[in-house]
Amino acid sequence: MTLNLYDTLTRTKRAFAPADPKRVTMYVCGPTVYNYAHIGNARPVVVFDVLFRLLRAAYGEDAVLYASNVTDVDDRIAAKAHEEGVAITVVTDRYLAAYNADMATLGALRPTFQPKATETMAEIIDMIGRLVAKGAAYVAEGHALFDTQAFPDYGKLSGRSLDDMIAGARVEVAPYKRHPADFVLWKPSKPDEPSWESPWGPGRPGWHIECSAMIEQTLGLPIDIHGGGNDLIFPHHENEMAQGVCAGHDDGYSRWWLHNGFLNFGDEKMSKSLGNVVLVHDLIDQVPGEALRWALLVGHYRAPLEWTDDLVAQARTSLDRLYGVLSDARRAETQGRRFPDADPEAVETLIDQSDFRSALDDDLNTSKALSELFTLANGLRAALTAGKAQVAADHRAALLQCANLLGFLGADPDAWFQGGADPDLKARIDGLIEARVAARTAKDWSEADRIRDELTALNVEVLDGPQGATWRLKEPV
Ligand code: AMP
Ligand code: ZN
Repeated sequence: MTLNLYDTLTRTKRAFAPADPKRVTMYVCGPTVYNYAHIGNARPVVVFDVLFRLLRAAYGEDAVLYASNVTDVDDRIAAKAHEEGVAITVVTDRYLAAYNADMATLGALRPTFQPKATETMAEIIDMIGRLVAKGAAYVAEGHALFDTQAFPDYGKLSGRSLDDMIAGARVEVAPYKRHPADFVLWKPSKPDEPSWESPWGPGRPGWHIECSAMIEQTLGLPIDIHGGGNDLIFPHHENEMAQGVCAGHDDGYSRWWLHNGFLNFGDEKMSKSLGNVVLVHDLIDQVPGEALRWALLVGHYRAPLEWTDDLVAQARTSLDRLYGVLSDARRAETQGRRFPDADPEAVETLIDQSDFRSALDDDLNTSKALSELFTLANGLRAALTAGKAQVAADHRAALLQCANLLGFLGADPDAWFQGGADPDLKARIDGLIEARVAARTAKDWSEADRIRDELTALNVEVLDGPQGATWRLKEPV
């Protein structure tokens, strides 16, 4: 594998090589748990899940350590708990559980580590202490602040100069800051917020130091890959890198920095603060998680992605086509005899002949990789039509190997089409489909139409394919 990844810091696409192939480390900034995640939040989760899967395939499952944190101290969490009149942990436990369930529905594997800020407090305080001791941070009015002048490379990740930052700083720069760009490492808590004892007085950490301390604790610094959305480059990642390096990691913070583009909705970035959000929690009631995953990966991860009904409908149709071919292959097997085992060499050749791997190696071009699945599916379709069992078996194995690598086509094809139907309903529909086939064979067209109407009334869509009819439940209205 020659995986080339675009690195935001050097602004180049470089061949990825971990510092230690037996211990590949990746960190992605995770959610602040005070509400359900929207589909924009799910974009980095799904994108970096693809990278996690590729790294596991390349270096071995146990060799890849992936950490993604949970921010469970925040003004918005405290406000929500206050509003509901419950303890903060009631809010954070509820939304963390929902987040993990929703992301699992999108096919995202659980990261190796999911550290919480509240459980990393000793490490956070220790890191701030080191920064103060080294003169890279100072204490003023109950705050500990990072001294941006102490890090000559400050601004390098985002391409901003300190002068730009002064110009961009809000008018009311806190009077205790030595420089307008200096940022908070520790601050006094507001009355409703949780508070911890520290050498700088009771309070709580700033957001940036939480990530640095959690990386240091779970993975150790420097790491191979740090990821997140574009919006985190400045100030969050700029600050993470500055304080991490100054806290004693002169050899660097992250060897690659990867950032995904925004998911836009109605011409604007989808964001909780703008209020233009579509929650994953709601979407998964209407659309299979796998189709949402497809929609998130159909564009290149660095490009903006426009979230529309059409995008979701097309994703669903694409999966219908792929599962349709798999379902036809299964029926060809039940009608005839089972396919022989796939020939591993032939499968390897088929994958090599396609652009699937080279697309992913080119900075995770999932758009092209997904389109290559159709090349393999078309090969399977042609083999079925020609009755070539070995060729069909090889194409099916190649298709599944590639699709599974990206977290697709793991479902049973019939379950894909019939998802949501309970066993009684399923049996009734299967009976009606059979009766309709019998009516058509007997050329009893009015009976066939009557059965079709009955199926329509059950919200069933009959899909007539080259190998016979299958069905699925229509989307809920
Ligand atoms: P937040 O909960 O806002 O801190 O965001 C969690 C993650 O989602 C971060 O990596 C953000 O960069 C990412 N994110 C938030 N909104 C969007 C969006 N509209 N498009 C892509 N990524 C986003
Ligand atoms: Zn972070």
